[in-house]
Amino acid sequence: MSNGDITQANARLLWKRFLQSTPPNTALLIPHLATARKYSSSAIEWTIPVLPLELHCEIDSGVRWFDPQEKSTGLGYQFLRYTCRNCNRFMKVFAVFVTKPESEEANVTVMKLGEYLPFSAPISKRISKLLEKDDLELYRQGTRAEAQGLGIGAATYFRRIVDNKWQLLVTEIRDAAAKLGAKDLSVFDAAVKETQFSKAVDMLKDAIPQKLLILDGENPLTLLYKVTSVGLHNLTDEECLQQAADIRMVLTALLENIADVLKDQNELKSAVARLKQLKT
Ligand SMILES: [Zn+2]
Repeated sequence: MSNGDITQANARLLWKRFLQSTPPNTALLIPHLATARKYSSSAIEWTIPVLPLELHCEIDSGVRWFDPQEKSTGLGYQFLRYTCRNCNRFMKVFAVFVTKPESEEANVTVMKLGEYLPFSAPISKRISKLLEKDDLELYRQGTRAEAQGLGIGAATYFRRIVDNKWQLLVTEIRDAAAKLGAKDLSVFDAAVKETQFSKAVDMLKDAIPQKLLILDGENPLTLLYKVTSVGLHNLTDEECLQQAADIRMVLTALLENIADVLKDQNELKSAVARLKQLKT
């Protein structure tokens, strides 16, 4: 590859990453991205390539290739429309503003004005299954705030979800414990009736099944309580950002573990059913 090819490949990579993972209202100068088309000695049209992207598809529940409707676009305000290559149904639209400083010929500044569906980190299937519409929107806002480094905002969104949903978490843990063969579930039933998360956490501190413990044997409910009981007003924005990430990770790990337990059990059940059908 010549030097020119390398700088062009670099420019395309920067442009691709910019669309995939930069929140709106962000500008980036990308050298060597534009190409000139000469119509006459005085008329030149500048274009920039519109490349396939790797984005999260909510229909396929994973990262897939997305193809653009048009292979290039001009300067100014532009909409870039994308469709998932795999399901051919999930769509994503970016609104961008492309400008080119006169002096540096092939350099452009791209600004992301917005995107639809709105920018957010991919949401795991477990989370979207557990959270109803309003809480799922809080979760999305939390991931958006976190991705933009807005610590106090992100922590507040995730804490609100824990406040709204801790009883549901206890119910899910109870179901998993039942599947794992726990005989006495009364402590879970009592905890779910509590009005205070702190009391429920205290009641369940030794009752969480081994399989649901995370990070080398830690009780996930105790961890969630520990994180959310620290007052936000005592923390810097940076510490809040860390807290937001901690809540998100513990919540996800707990739900993944619950789902695994329930799935294992379902698989075992269908294996037993299959064996029973065998003629002897
Ligand atoms: Zn798809």
